[in-house]
Amino acid sequence: MCDPKSIYIHIPFCVKKCGYCDFFSNTDLSLIPDYILALQNEIKKRADSEDKIDTIYFGGGTPSLLSVKDVDTLLHTITDTFKVCRDVEITFEVNPGTSNLNDLRQLKKIGINRLSIGAQSFNEDKLRFLTRIHSAEQSIKIINEAQKAGFDNISLDFIYGLYFETQTIWRKDLEQAIGMTPSHLSCYMLTIEPGTAFNQKIQKGLFKPLGNKAMSIMFKNTITFLNNNNYEHYEISNFSKGRQNRSRHNSRYWDMTPYYGFGAAAHSYDGKTRSWNPKSIGKYIKDLDSGRLPVEEDETLTKNQLMMEMIMLRLRTLEGLDIAKFQTLFHDSFENRYKDILEPILGESLGIINDQRFALTLEGKIRLDSIVEAFAEKTL
Ligand code: SF4
Repeated sequence: MCDPKSIYIHIPFCVKKCGYCDFFSNTDLSLIPDYILALQNEIKKRADSEDKIDTIYFGGGTPSLLSVKDVDTLLHTITDTFKVCRDVEITFEVNPGTSNLNDLRQLKKIGINRLSIGAQSFNEDKLRFLTRIHSAEQSIKIINEAQKAGFDNISLDFIYGLYFETQTIWRKDLEQAIGMTPSHLSCYMLTIEPGTAFNQKIQKGLFKPLGNKAMSIMFKNTITFLNNNNYEHYEISNFSKGRQNRSRHNSRYWDMTPYYGFGAAAHSYDGKTRSWNPKSIGKYIKDLDSGRLPVEEDETLTKNQLMMEMIMLRLRTLEGLDIAKFQTLFHDSFENRYKDILEPILGESLGIINDQRFALTLEGKIRLDSIVEAFAEKTL
């Protein structure tokens, strides 16, 4: 039997577009019923019934805009089409403005066993600036309700590094976050993406992004604070209470394990080829209605692209890159091939090689982008 794979289901609907967000999503909720039918169709069409699935992730957009019945229908389509492992991790993203205790209880009943709650902050000024649809009070309420509904694997999402944010404001967010005892935290630095409302505001001079120095201090402080409170920094933006609470699904991406991505704009990867669906709900539904697979494009990765993918993803992680695995996969010595890049990194203690693994230190992680760029220049 082959190794287990993962399934990502994209739910591209939101009540309102947040100013910083460049994910594909649509505010026309009337499309949901046809979209659910199309998703079922795509799952059945693309499934290899021999594939074992051990992680399923409902991401968005806003999955919590779906009715529990729709989620149940999708889960049944998956279990009817694939071999689903008994201990499957099933994550469901919740926007605090769109769920309640009753829904959460029902979601638990139908098999969802991990929640990812998009709290983003407990500071009202931050939430307003981020144009979130919910208040801090609503986030606190939904976290309490999730615990009441019996979820013990809860991840909270946070954003930091807003232009007016001080170390004290961020520290308060973190203190309040750990006070809610989540098993996992994702803390993302605010990045300004092209095409977003924030990008336009910056171009109009309405605000300036926070400088790199302040960002680096916040990044360091986040890691120190969470480590001191028993959250392991296992990936650049992710922290878990012990190894057992890491996101199994996201860890698969960082391990380059094949995954299915279902839905508009979803990406899939089979170990060699990446493919992606159209960034249009109308086109996605139409393709499936006409009996076509909704694949917009695919790309088979060259050996060098696969190498680069492995370096880029593994340097984000605590364990780093497995040097022996690199040799086995690519018949090439990592240490010889990248000798001139590794020497200064090791010399300046930005990275270490230990037990046949190359990993970045905290200082190295602060400079992740430029380190990855150096590897890319040599590889691609
Ligand atoms: S709710 Fe999430 S997916 Fe939707 S616009 Fe906001 S950040 Fe983006």
